[in-house]
Amino acid sequence: MQNGGDKRYRVAILGATGLVGQQFISILQERKFPISELKLLASDRSAGGKISFNGTEITVEEATAHSFEGIDIALFSAGSDVSRHFAPIAVKQGAVVVDNSAAFRMDPRVPLVVPEINPEDIAKHNGIIANPNCSTIQMVVALFPLHKVNPIKRIIVSTYQSVSGTGKAALTELEDQSRLALEQKEIIPHVYPHQIAFNILPEIDVFLDNDYTKEEWKMVEETRKIMHAPDIAISATCARVPVFYSHSESVNVEFTEPVSPDGARRILAGAPGVKILDEPGVSLYPLPASATGSDNVYVGRIRQDVSTTNGLVMWVVADNIRKGAALNAVQIAETMVREGWLQRDKEEGR
Ligand code: NAP
Repeated sequence: MQNGGDKRYRVAILGATGLVGQQFISILQERKFPISELKLLASDRSAGGKISFNGTEITVEEATAHSFEGIDIALFSAGSDVSRHFAPIAVKQGAVVVDNSAAFRMDPRVPLVVPEINPEDIAKHNGIIANPNCSTIQMVVALFPLHKVNPIKRIIVSTYQSVSGTGKAALTELEDQSRLALEQKEIIPHVYPHQIAFNILPEIDVFLDNDYTKEEWKMVEETRKIMHAPDIAISATCARVPVFYSHSESVNVEFTEPVSPDGARRILAGAPGVKILDEPGVSLYPLPASATGSDNVYVGRIRQDVSTTNGLVMWVVADNIRKGAALNAVQIAETMVREGWLQRDKEEGR
């Protein structure tokens, strides 16, 4: 990363043994985040295990009320209940928390940030910064550059979300069920309400009173908050598909003024974090299998939405564990370090 000074930071990862936690560890190494000490926290189930970081073995510790003493930056990925419990403790102990769970995302005191879109919101934090939902992040990275030029009026999105979005247990479930299905043996679902292998489940998170799922409603509310666009009309349908990594989305967007697919391609070609893959003639378009492991949000199949005026349709794919979770959170931490927006930086008047 580009770091203003030589200062190094004491960093904790809560949920270090999970899918997102493991990506945190890789991404902090890859991007050479300025770390003086890394603390790896999880539940008592995995305390005592060893994880390698920059060639050093670090012992995983059980998270306790004292875990965040002396920590500057705490990256949380252990679920909403754990975040609700430990975030106030960590903040009290002087850390800034970047939280991957849904616990604080819609709290008006908590910035909800995608660094390509609203980095300035980070400066308003009170100790907690929320990382948005994975499906929301990749959609807004693709849409915001277009919205800035031609304000969006309405979005209709359908997602095809990989099982890694549910955590490590879901990877095993898809692997086991796929084998059992091919062997024509009985399948008993554990993680999902139905068989996920060779199936599609139009249910992600719980159903709300308005018949949308919570995941779908997150896409509505979080998109408006991140883009500071409370009036955009949004409807989402979120489906779980038997893919291990990376989420795909079909997005119909209606703009205020007329748009052309070529005009949209020109804008997106220069947009941060976006890569266009759009040559249908040679079957070139974004695919989850090729997006996995990449930091980009891939956009393709850009075409006129013939069902409306001023509309486009596009296909958006990204690695849900990287840009959809760990990478976005590390980019938030990098921005804080670069801009001097950490709580300790502020206290020390740097
Ligand atoms: P995961 O693979 O199931 O990992 C969960 C992690 O949380 C593990 O390290 C686990 O530790 C830890 N944990 C669970 N209960 C704990 C407790 N009581 N105290 C301390 N640590 C505890 O899940 P994940 O996919 O990494 O997701 C983690 C969080 O990130 C969730 O809030 C999820 O909503 C969010 N998120 C995930 C994605 C995604 O695409 N996967 C995207 C965006 C946000 P043990 O090993 O000890 O059980």
